[in-house]
Formats: sequence, C-alpha cells, structure tokens
Amino acid sequence: DEMRAWGIGAPQIAELARALSAKRGRPHRFAGPGEAARVLRRELSARPPASAPSPAPTTRAPSPRASIAIENLSFTYRDGSTALRDVSLSVPEGQFLILAGPNGSGKTTLAKHFIGLLKPAAGRVLIDGEDTARLRVPQLARSVGYVFQNPDHQIFAATVAEEIAFGLRLQGLEDAEVRRRVAESLTEYGLESCATLPPATLSLGERRQVTLAAVLATRPRILVLDEPTGGLDWQSREEMLARAQAFHDAGGTVVLITHDVRLMAERGERIVILLRGRVCFDGSADELFRRRDLLAQAQLTAPPVVRLAQRLARFGVPPGAHTVAELVDVL
Ligand code: ADP
Repeated sequence: DEMRAWGIGAPQIAELARALSAKRGRPHRFAGPGEAARVLRRELSARPPASAPSPAPTTRAPSPRASIAIENLSFTYRDGSTALRDVSLSVPEGQFLILAGPNGSGKTTLAKHFIGLLKPAAGRVLIDGEDTARLRVPQLARSVGYVFQNPDHQIFAATVAEEIAFGLRLQGLEDAEVRRRVAESLTEYGLESCATLPPATLSLGERRQVTLAAVLATRPRILVLDEPTGGLDWQSREEMLARAQAFHDAGGTVVLITHDVRLMAERGERIVILLRGRVCFDGSADELFRRRDLLAQAQLTAPPVVRLAQRLARFGVPPGAHTVAELVDVL
C-alpha cells in the first residue's frame, strides 16, 4: 500500500500475495516466484481435481472495416538502412493492437507511415480506406493522433494551452471553439494550473499528458502511442493507460508500441511483433507467452505471474491466467 501511495509499482509476486490475502482473509507472503510456486503447488495438489474453467475470450468481435491497412510495405532510409520489409497488416476499426519488437526492429518507422511522416518506398498504407501517399500530414492528422515516444520531439509551443490549441487551429476551428476545447482538455487532464507555463518546466509524465491532451483534443479516430509508458512511474503509467483505454472504450482504434510485457498480458487482444523490419508474430498474448523461442528472439520475458501460471498448469491452472486478478480468480 505504501509503494502504491508513492507511485511505485510493487513486484508482481508481491501483488499476487496481496490479492490472495484479500480474497482469503488471511495473510500470504511470498519471498519470490519460487516460493509462490512451491506454496501454490502444494495447495493445488491437495485439492480434488476440478475441471478448469476455460479463460474468458478477450477478443471483441472487430468490425470488418480496416482503420489501417498496410499492404506489402517496404521502407529504406536515405542512408540505405532498410527498416521495413514487405509488411502487410490490417487493423480493424475499434481494435487495440500492441506493436512490439526489439530496438531498431522498425516499429517507429511503421507508425510514422500512419501519419504520413514517411511515405512507402514500396507497397501502400491506407487509413480509413484512403492511400496515405495521396494525403498530406494535416489531412491525416484528422484521422490519426500520434503521440511521439519523446514528448520533447512533439512539443514546440511556448505554453501548455498553446500546445493544445495548435492542432485545433490547424483543423480550421473557430477561435471560440478552440478556446472551449483547450479549456475542456486542461480540466480533463488536470492541467489548468499549468496552462500558461512553458511545457519544458513540467515533469516527463506531465509532458506526456500534454502531448496526449493535444492529440486527443482534435478527436482522431485512431490513436498511435509510441512507448507511452517508458520512463513513467507506476501512477503515471496507470493514468496514461487509462486514457488509452477510455479512447478505445469510446470506439477508437489504438496502436500502442511497447516493450512492457505486463501490458501485453493485460491487453493481449492482438500483439504484433516486428523483427528486423518483418512481422514475425501476429496473435494473442496467450499464444505469444507459449512461444519461448519467439520471446527470446524479441528479447522479451513473460511476466512473473504468467510464468507462475505455466508452472502450475499441471495442477489445473488454465494457461489464460495472465494477470494477478486472473490467477487469483482460479486459485
Ligand atoms: P524501433 O522503433 O523498433 O526501435 P526504428 O523504426 O526506429 O525501430 O528503426 C528501424 C531501423 O531504421 C533501425 O535500423 C534504425 O537504425 C533505422 N532508422 C531509424 N530512423 C532512421 C533515420 N532517420 N535514418 C536512418 N536510419 C534510421
């Protein structure tokens, strides 16, 4: 509880102990994953075998319309480095897609094609059915909101309020509407007291909130977040993800670039992994966490609770238990 109050994420096994204690009304303490596995294995093997409930399907039936359609996309930078090789991918409207892969695998290069900052060397990118090769960045920005990995590469206005107003003016909105939406965003993001401050004086978490507020004020249908949680404390991470979730709940399409395996476990609807510019995996978190070879190639390690659930599979724990809540539910 103290760690949470300080905004620090606790180790996942400690969170598991905490949640089990709350569920059972008696304290559980695990020194680490090894002890958790030993205790739970003992407990589960003493239980009469029960038919394990199958995990609830996490996939929402996507609408057939593609928000983003990538067809045989290849891209080479001017210095000759090929960043994308024959990538084909369709992101249905309303999907929450996680894009992962080691550094340099082409994630940012791919995402920059969604907003027209880069144009395909070969192949096509369609946003809501329109070829990005024929659209300019401001036109694409009406559909796609792109939040850069580094907010300082995005923020350029002298004040927070100006930063939010910029995209709205670019859309040709009347001054009164711009003022109304800026005020609305400042309130929603708790940035009222920062309105006239230079963004550079804010913390990293706040600067990320400013870029997200500025992007969402323009009401895009697609939100692309490039490592939105990197460098943030737990509290700021949770806030950022809650905003992405709210956008998705309202029907928006989300493409989220991350290395965060806990996030993949929580939001495992669809994960796409790039390796050296190619799509090497496209599936659910469940499938991904079973593929040790692929995890190693992508330089990922399944979260502690997923590994614990795998160790307990012989004792009836279903493979779909990926989060603390899901594992506690079946124990
Ligand atoms: P990721 O987002 O997965 O870390 P990037 O899309 O940034 O990967 O990079 C993919 C490849 O393209 C890397 O080899 C990287 O060095 C190269 N690259 C990225 N940006 C540039 C650039 N502006 N000029 C030349 N090469 C680049």
